[in-house]
Amino acid sequence: MALIVQKFGGTSVASVSHIEKVAKRVIATREKGYDVIVVVSAMGKETDRLDELAREVTPNPGQKAARELDVLLSTGEQVTIALLSMTLIKMGWQARSYTGSQVRILTDKVHSKARIIEIDGQNLNQDLAAGRIVVVAGFQGVDEHGNITTLGRGGSDTTAVAIAAVMKAEECQIYTDVKGVYTADPRMVEGARCLEKLTFEEMLELASLGSKVLHSRAVEFASRYQLPIRVLSSFNESPGTLITSEDDTEMEKPLISGIATTRDEAKLTVLGVPDIPGVASSILGPISTANIEVDMIVQNVAADNTTDFTFTVHRDDYDQTLEILTKVSESIGAREIRGDNKIAKLSLVGVGMRSHAGVASRMFAVLAAESINIQMISTSEIKISVVIAERYLELAARALHSEFDLNSVNQNG
Ligand code: ADP
Ligand code: ASP
Ligand code: MG
Repeated sequence: MALIVQKFGGTSVASVSHIEKVAKRVIATREKGYDVIVVVSAMGKETDRLDELAREVTPNPGQKAARELDVLLSTGEQVTIALLSMTLIKMGWQARSYTGSQVRILTDKVHSKARIIEIDGQNLNQDLAAGRIVVVAGFQGVDEHGNITTLGRGGSDTTAVAIAAVMKAEECQIYTDVKGVYTADPRMVEGARCLEKLTFEEMLELASLGSKVLHSRAVEFASRYQLPIRVLSSFNESPGTLITSEDDTEMEKPLISGIATTRDEAKLTVLGVPDIPGVASSILGPISTANIEVDMIVQNVAADNTTDFTFTVHRDDYDQTLEILTKVSESIGAREIRGDNKIAKLSLVGVGMRSHAGVASRMFAVLAAESINIQMISTSEIKISVVIAERYLELAARALHSEFDLNSVNQNG
């Protein structure tokens, strides 16, 4: 029997009555003759609630008690798997729930952003063969020593896609609270349009640049295993967005597929460091030793042989990065350290950019017309990102959406 993996996010399982609707959808797929593995998130905003509880206990649980934070956060999904399995059983079907460690979703040991190394499909296969619906807790795994790990916020998508890949599913369906992947976050840009189709490459850029509709590691897995993902709504019957490999037969690629935005970053600037070899490494070395990921980097050369070095990190890492830089500032000969955690990043993404010049200048002209100052820029073949003040994010997203005509199917370059 062909297998379909279905993942339901927090809003889709927010209450017992929501869970009943999910169960009906799962059963409908089962009745069409598919084997089904369901992956679920914690109910509603449960993960946020658990995180806040931890912060009541200690100001920085992710640093000071990372192992324990994962033990806490993983409980959210455990509640949902049990409730959904009970509901399926009540409805007359055989179902069995699994935590990440019961499946044995083996991860590395990096708490709160663990990567999946291997999934043991044996139990799941046995259950499917026995006619059961299998319900797996998203977002969690176990390291080689049996410690519970979590995959990062939004990580249930990754659990679903990884299971689908290992179990050779026909498709992985991600059910969420919007109709699919839009040209921009529909909660920010009125008139954003739901896309019918996207390539893995474009979705990977959108996801890693902040479109939280899909976890970026989920897209990485799907692309690696060439596994189609469909993003669709839990609340209606629309076809959603299919994410798959680039279809060469398609007539024309849109110039811009979508706009991704994120408020998750913070900017740090080291002013007046000597412009000599090794400076970047002595600034970023201690940051990387602390396991902090650096995103954009800009370095300028000034006339007096000193340079200003600016980079961005995740906003959660801002305080720690500032602390590290302040400590090392004397040894690197810096004049001053400045930080700003009220920035946002906005990116235009589209494979059509490969064959069209001029997107960047149009983008910059729109921002200039709105008097929005660009603080940093980075580009790749299929994206342009800018860092701007957070307070201008919505304005910039709306203006660019309209400039590039993204609400129309026939947008042109
Ligand atoms: P779930 O709990 O189902 O995993 P998420 O909250 O993680 O749902 O992701 C869905 C949300 O992603 C939407 O409600 C929407 O606000 C946001 N979002 C951001 N960018 C996009 C986009 N380009 N298309 C669709 N949704 C987006
Ligand atoms: N419950 C986790 C979160 O809120 C994982 C997920 O829903 O994907 O981030
Ligand atoms: Mg999500």
